This record gives sequence, structure tokens and C-alpha cells, in this order.
Amino acid sequence: MERISWHQYFMAQSHLLALRSTCTRLMVGATIVRDKRIIAGGYNGSISGGKHCIDDGCYLIDNHCVRTVHAEINALLQCAKFGVPTEGAEIYVTHFPCLNCSKALIQAGIKKVYYAQDYKNHEFAIEMFHQAGVTVEQVELEEMILDTKNKEKLLFTAELLRQLEAKGADKEMIEKFRDEANKLYTSSS
Ligand SMILES: [Zn+2]
Ligand SMILES: [Zn+2]
Repeated sequence: MERISWHQYFMAQSHLLALRSTCTRLMVGATIVRDKRIIAGGYNGSISGGKHCIDDGCYLIDNHCVRTVHAEINALLQCAKFGVPTEGAEIYVTHFPCLNCSKALIQAGIKKVYYAQDYKNHEFAIEMFHQAGVTVEQVELEEMILDTKNKEKLLFTAELLRQLEAKGADKEMIEKFRDEANKLYTSSS
């Protein structure tokens, strides 16, 4: 049995949180960590009790959805709400933070930002992090830990089987592959 690393453990947590996002334009998750302990988490979502983008559509201004509070800010606000210090803490985010979140993270005393995916990485954000002495490092989630491309894999395999069928491959064999793919990619056994 191979033990999961701290980086992968915290990044997986952020990817799980991202699945709770209520704005489909970008599903983001963030986990704030202090001394190897998770102290807060957040995802991209509306204010508590507010309407959700997934139900009522996005509220767009200049092609930006303004309905949601970003994952990083939600995680920081959770700390503010419950009086948990963020000074010297680290954050694991699924995407490179936007300018507003970058500023908030710096002001809250976050010292390390680990992000999984590049996302419009703004040069001013990079400059501010550098000036503030905040370490920024990419930590990609290993697919073995949390399969975030399950749907894509299923679709890809279905397409391959369709092509095989079109080329006149043995029907029985294709059926066997299809059963196997369903067992691998879905919870049906
Ligand atoms: Zn939205
Ligand atoms: Zn943001």
C-alpha cells in the first residue's frame, strides 16, 4: 500500500470541494492548511441562502459571473467567521487564483499558494505574490488519487467501440469490451 502525500491529500480535498460549486462556469475548490491541519475549505458558490447559478443561471456583468463568492474568499471568510487565524497558513486551490483572491490571500497572511491548474495566471498576481514573499507552486492532482476525468474516459471508450463496430469488428467482442468499460468507469457491476 502506498501512502498518499500531504500535497496530494490536501489537493484532493480541494478537488472534492470543487464538486460542490454552484456556478458551472468554473468549479473551484480551496483548502486552507496550517501545520498540516485543514482549518477551512471553500468552493465557488452563492452567498448562504442565495439563488444558485445552476438553478437560476449566472448573473453576468462584462462576461463575469458576479453571483458567486470565489472558493478562496469563502475559505478565508470561514476563518473570519469562526475566528481562526490565517497568518502563516497555506492554501491548496484547484485553479490559479484571480486578482481579487490573490490580494485577499496576501492580506490574510497566507504564505504558500499551491494550485493544480493554470487559469489565466495574471502577471500582476504573480508580481504581488512575489513582492509579498508568498511562495506559489503548481501541484497537480495525480489521477490515481481522485479520477476527475471519469466521464471523459467513458466517452472516449464509447467512441472507440463505436468506431470498431463501424469497421465491422466482431459484435460479441465489442459487447464484452462495453461491459468491461461499464464496470471500470461506472458504479454498476
Ligand atoms: Zn455563475
Ligand atoms: Zn477568485
